[in-house]
Amino acid sequence: EMPPCDFKPSAHKGLDYDAAINIRKKNLNPALFTFYRKPVYIHQGHMQYLWDTNGRRYIDLFAGIVTVSVGHCHPTVGRAAEEQMKKLWHTTNIYLHPKIHEYADKLVSKLPGNLKVVYVTNSGSEANDLAILMARLHTGVFECVSLRNCYHGASPYLMGLTALSTWRYNSPTGFGFHHSMNPDPYRGPWGGKHCRDSPAQPGRHCDCAEGECHAKDMYVDQLEDVLRYSMPKGKVAAFIAEAIQGVGGAVQLPDGFLKKAYEKVRARGGLCISDEVQTGFGRLGSHYWGFESQGVVPDIVTMAKGMGNGYPMGAVVTTPEIAATLGNALHFNTFGGNPVACAVGSAVLDVIDEEKTQALCADVGTYFIQALDSLRSEFEVVGDVRGKGLMIGVELVKDKVSRDPLPADEVASIWEDTKEMGVLIGKGGLFGNCLRIKPPMCLTKADVDYSMAVIRKALQNHSQRL
Ligand code: PMP
Repeated sequence: EMPPCDFKPSAHKGLDYDAAINIRKKNLNPALFTFYRKPVYIHQGHMQYLWDTNGRRYIDLFAGIVTVSVGHCHPTVGRAAEEQMKKLWHTTNIYLHPKIHEYADKLVSKLPGNLKVVYVTNSGSEANDLAILMARLHTGVFECVSLRNCYHGASPYLMGLTALSTWRYNSPTGFGFHHSMNPDPYRGPWGGKHCRDSPAQPGRHCDCAEGECHAKDMYVDQLEDVLRYSMPKGKVAAFIAEAIQGVGGAVQLPDGFLKKAYEKVRARGGLCISDEVQTGFGRLGSHYWGFESQGVVPDIVTMAKGMGNGYPMGAVVTTPEIAATLGNALHFNTFGGNPVACAVGSAVLDVIDEEKTQALCADVGTYFIQALDSLRSEFEVVGDVRGKGLMIGVELVKDKVSRDPLPADEVASIWEDTKEMGVLIGKGGLFGNCLRIKPPMCLTKADVDYSMAVIRKALQNHSQRL
């Protein structure tokens, strides 16, 4: 049984399912249509739940791709938007308006060190575009490094920075982007978390304890190699990383990796950028920002998704020194920092504090990860369970020894099954074989219990089909 919920969605009076599907096929991007064999037709949302047009309720474990941070239609955030919409929707940032100043002040109070200057954008891609521009102008160097398996945006320019091949197309991308090996404890060439599970692959075998992965040093050496061999005059403009690679399937950097990586980059005059688009705002439970979990302070932080709880906004935060090189006039963004977005963003920050969201992520996330981890011994196909707080990945494989990804049609059947039982889960990773669990951060343990029963049943159904 799904946990009880008092909220009653209104009746749907719009297009019926078949009409919606026809329009989707004809008039909208059909590519995204393949997520489910029979897509869900969502009508309304409230906190961690969604309802389809037939009034059927779902637990939303994907939060509109890690974006609905504090809950669908959160009343406090909704009220802030409504009040602002009665006063002022838009004015150019050439003028002062109270909301952007209020927001910048509040956001900066959440960041450490000298991270004090805020640029509000409309998306994560725009934020990363600007961060790279800033780093290049500030250092006077062109070359940038990201980690393999990363996702930093979909503009043609950023497709060069994004290393995940799924999101790169046969089209010219930005120049000067290099990729260093990401420390992937499960699939990387050098040992890690579960290497002892795989004696059949001696190359991956090592005896390091979880959290003490000595292999991280090999990945740091890899980064040093990229810097040494590929950077003209050994100089680098920027190094960018996510503390947990989101789209890449919740691949978590080993403790201490970023500290050493930042040292290497800074030794060559480069700036360090932390992409907090998915990892920020308390989602990791242990820390408000992903970079804090690695014990580092970046020079530039980029964010989007959860900061607006679904309202489109993004931001770059940097130091006054770096901002100074950008000058007064260079960056202009028509919609970025509009009063409604800022009012929403401000309310989201308040809600995260008032509802102790970060602590909830730690508590519910640990509970969820432990429950999922128990599936590893129950099912051959559950290869890896990883993540922190409510940013969780489960990698499905053919078998634990080969670690070959579960074939796409089998993956699709499992997703279809969980959806039919009322649980919406994300998908990701290079092979599309990772369950991505990143719900609104108001998820409860009762929701976890129901979701676990559904995931277990879907895996049992899969075993029976074999
Ligand atoms: N960085 C990361 C880590 C992301 O996950 C995403 C979006 N998936 C982006 C940047 C780009 O954000 P947007 O889609 O808002 O442009």
